[in-house]
Amino acid sequence: WFWQRQRIVTKLAGVDSLTGAMTRRSLYSWYANTNFSRSTSCAVLIDLDHFKLINDQHGHLTGDEVLTCFSNIVRDRIRKTDKLCRYGGEEFLIYFSDSDQRSAKRILDELNFALSRQKHWSNTKEMFSVSFSSGLLDVNGETNLDTIIKMCDELLYRAKREGRARVASFPI
Ligand code: GH3
Ligand code: MG
Ligand code: MG
Repeated sequence: WFWQRQRIVTKLAGVDSLTGAMTRRSLYSWYANTNFSRSTSCAVLIDLDHFKLINDQHGHLTGDEVLTCFSNIVRDRIRKTDKLCRYGGEEFLIYFSDSDQRSAKRILDELNFALSRQKHWSNTKEMFSVSFSSGLLDVNGETNLDTIIKMCDELLYRAKREGRARVASFPI
């Protein structure tokens, strides 16, 4: 009962109960109520690589642990003004406020590096590491979040096609 109630409370607070990231709904509502005039921001859509394989080979509990670990690494690294949202199963969105593509790319590379160093998991004796692919976009004036995410998704697809564990973005 307690945990069930806890899940409802966190959901109402706009927080995903597994990872502590914002829910998609709360990202949209934050975005609609924030004034971005004059600032350069970046959006990045992230998808963990071969996540189905992790579940299949190590079980769902370990898969969940990977999601939580990823989210913790990101939240430790980004600023308070940046936002991390669990967009879907193993897809996340980071919104970097007042940031250009170059610095966002540097952070994403650092995040992939930090994640690659995590090899021990509590629910399995086997050692393995995880990577993610991402599509990064300078938001510059575009205000429709759906449009932004759709473009990020196309870039993400390119990152997957080009070999995963990388960031794809438009040339600056
Ligand atoms: P790719 O590198 O192309 O992204 O391959 P993938 O295996 O990551 O992609 P796919 O979309 O096929 O697999 C996503 C998997 O994520 C499928 C689904 O079962 C799993 N998943 C979604 N949500 C959760 C969750 O909350 N916990 C766990 N353990 N798995 C989840
Ligand atoms: Mg996916
Ligand atoms: Mg995936």
